[in-house]
Parts: sequence; C-alpha cells; structure tokens
Amino acid sequence: MTIKQFWIDPYLSRHLTCVASVADSDVTLRSTIFFAFSGGQESDQGTIAGYPVLRAQAEGTAIVHTLPEGHGLAAGQTVEVEIDWTRRYRLMRLHFAAELVLELFYRALPGVGKIGAHIAQDKARIDFAWPESISPRLAGIASAANAIVQADLVITSAFEDMANERRYWQIDGFARVPCGGTHVRRTGEVGAIRLKRNNIGRGKERVEILVDS
Ligand SMILES: [Zn+2]
Repeated sequence: MTIKQFWIDPYLSRHLTCVASVADSDVTLRSTIFFAFSGGQESDQGTIAGYPVLRAQAEGTAIVHTLPEGHGLAAGQTVEVEIDWTRRYRLMRLHFAAELVLELFYRALPGVGKIGAHIAQDKARIDFAWPESISPRLAGIASAANAIVQADLVITSAFEDMANERRYWQIDGFARVPCGGTHVRRTGEVGAIRLKRNNIGRGKERVEILVDS
C-alpha cells in the first residue's frame, strides 16, 4: 500500500520519502503526493528525484509511477517528490467546482443521471443523461454554486472507511459526498464559476465548468 500523502495534506507540492519497489520503469514509494487518475480527475505531473513521472496509475492500494528507462533508482533510496503545483491547484479548484455543480444538478433535476465526468487543468465537464436541454437551468445553478463559493464555507475531507480507503467531503448544512479526490479546504478557494452547455447527442447533456485563472 502507498501512503497517500495527498489525502493527509493536499497542499504539499514537495515531499521526502523512500522508494518501496522498482520493476523496470515502474516505481512505488512508501508515500506519495502524486494523485493518480481517478474519478475523472487527471493525474498530477512532476518529478521523483528529478526524473519526470511519465504516468501515475493507481493499482489496488498502490500508486505506480512510471519513470524514463534507465532511471537507476533502487528500493530503500530516499527521494524527493515534486508535483506541478500550478496544475494541481487548478485541478483541485475545478474538481470542487464540479462537485458543487453536480450536487446542485441532482437537486434541480431529480432523477438526472451522471454518465461521465472529467477534470482537466483548463476546465471540467460533467455529462448527464437527460432528455431536455439543461440551458434554462444553467444560470440558476451557477448562481447557487457562486453563492456557496462566496460564503467561503469549510470543506471537511476525511475517511469514511480507512481500511478500504473510502473517503468523503462534507460541507455542514449542504452535503456529504463520497469521493477520493483532492479537495480544497474552503469553498472560497474555488473562485468564480462559469458554466456552459454543450450538446453531445440525443438524450445527453454536457455542462462545462470554468473557474478564473
Ligand atoms: Zn471530490
């Protein structure tokens, strides 16, 4: 198991740890700050001991980092891990913007189904199965989401079930939602949210989510 330091402190951009295992280009660490693609949130980018991480992937309870061939790292070696913080912080803010928007959609359109989600550095999107255009709903949902952002509410992130690594986020009086992503500590960090609709085919609606740079 890899200790997920990004859960213990999602604001770390540098971290000292040691190599747990090496299999050719694939390296696991005792603990890592690299979030690996999950729940639609893209992986972090960065380096281990100065080597670029080409891919970070969750395998069971481990996170496997793929380095360039010939990296020469060995088990037991102390290494410094560094992630691209500008990218990660954008991903955290957009991820939480998407959390708010999703929760508000569930309330505005009872029975709506989420069929996909993706969080990238420039924008996030959520796809819904819904028979009508969501356009008439966007302004109301954006304004409700921005009211939560402006209220700068505390976001708690914690384990629901530590043995099975199940986590949740919670805003008192608003919602408690299962999620293993990286979350900001307060809603104010998200910044102003803008929403756009995209038509992606019959019975499917996409909402694109943007936050200020
Ligand atoms: Zn989340």
